[in-house]
Amino acid sequence: MENSKKKCKISACSDNHAKHYCRVCKDKDSDHFARDCTQGIILYHGTRVSFIKSIIANGLQPSKHGRLDSGIYFTDRDTAILISKHRGQGTGVAVFKCRVNTDEQSCVEGTHPVWKGVTTSTFQEWCLKDPLKHRIMGFEVIDGEFEDAVNLPRGEIIVNGSTMSN
Ligand SMILES: [Zn+2]
Ligand SMILES: [Zn+2]
Repeated sequence: MENSKKKCKISACSDNHAKHYCRVCKDKDSDHFARDCTQGIILYHGTRVSFIKSIIANGLQPSKHGRLDSGIYFTDRDTAILISKHRGQGTGVAVFKCRVNTDEQSCVEGTHPVWKGVTTSTFQEWCLKDPLKHRIMGFEVIDGEFEDAVNLPRGEIIVNGSTMSN
């Protein structure tokens, strides 16, 4: 039975396909998982715990407005948590860990000034203009309850500091 299975170039991949598509670098016959792609860097997107399920199902949605115009916004983990706490009135904060292609054609990088009452220093932010060029690697529930079952293959799920089995 094993021989009838199609096999891509990634030995650790158990998907039944001949070619593995990396959406981060757009290689159609990839030898790596998108989560491991060297053409992307690890960035974070903060949100609310109540949005996790729909993000897993539908992907991260671009913001229509923002300092760098429309796109999916990413920053470092600590800043993503601070911003989400601010926006979500302090509870039910979650951050998505993503591999993001930040090349100049796909993404705009900027330095955000100190956000009074939210951050104590400036921070880098990335606005992904090509929304497909990222892969969710996992998510972390910072506070609040999360009991939903989600299907996130090879994903890391951390709830209040403990890694969950997926
Ligand atoms: Zn594969
Ligand atoms: Zn790649």
